[in-house]
Amino acid sequence: MTGGMQNAKGGIFVVSAPSGTGKTTLCRNVINEVDRLSYSVSHTTRAARAAETDGADYFFISKKEFEDKITENYWAEWARVHDNYYGTSKAFLTEKINSGQSILLDIDVQGAKQIKTAFPEAVTIFVMPPSFEELENRLRKRGTDSEDVIEKRLENAGREMDQKGWYDFIVINDDFGQARRKMIDIINGHTR
Ligand code: 5GP
Repeated sequence: MTGGMQNAKGGIFVVSAPSGTGKTTLCRNVINEVDRLSYSVSHTTRAARAAETDGADYFFISKKEFEDKITENYWAEWARVHDNYYGTSKAFLTEKINSGQSILLDIDVQGAKQIKTAFPEAVTIFVMPPSFEELENRLRKRGTDSEDVIEKRLENAGREMDQKGWYDFIVINDDFGQARRKMIDIINGHTR
């Protein structure tokens, strides 16, 4: 094997899940636990939520800027999700992994497929709720969405779950501690 640890490239880990599966909490927890693993900061055209910071949670840009960057071939992957654009900068991703950082991308199914095509060594993980009924319960319990939005999210979730078959790993978020352990093991098993 050529090159030492210093030249080792970081790994790319792609995590997708329907909303309401607890993916965000799971990912944050795992990132805190694994050395030299950090979030890929995506770009989006949606408005920032109250607790979000530009450059940390997302890079918030206009629709025009986003579309110009499509033409410029700026994106490693991009998708339209719930009427907004979301994308990962090619430069952001390659700079991180070339410097030995591993990156976790929290992106939708369309984006995950593009990353797997461009970077076949990427490891893809799909997080599942224990059941569809449980997902419905969780979305209703949040109490943040109208019935219309809940219906739309559930429909979307069903469509996303139909795609889980081509992911490298499936993690069921039934018991949080176990799901967390499984994700950490997958990531540690694929990094040096
Ligand atoms: P939210 O608006 O709730 O932050 O994210 C909505 C959805 O967009 C989530 O499913 C999330 O995984 C997805 N998403 C966030 N960033 C990206 C990205 O850069 N690319 C793609 N394809 N999806 C993303």
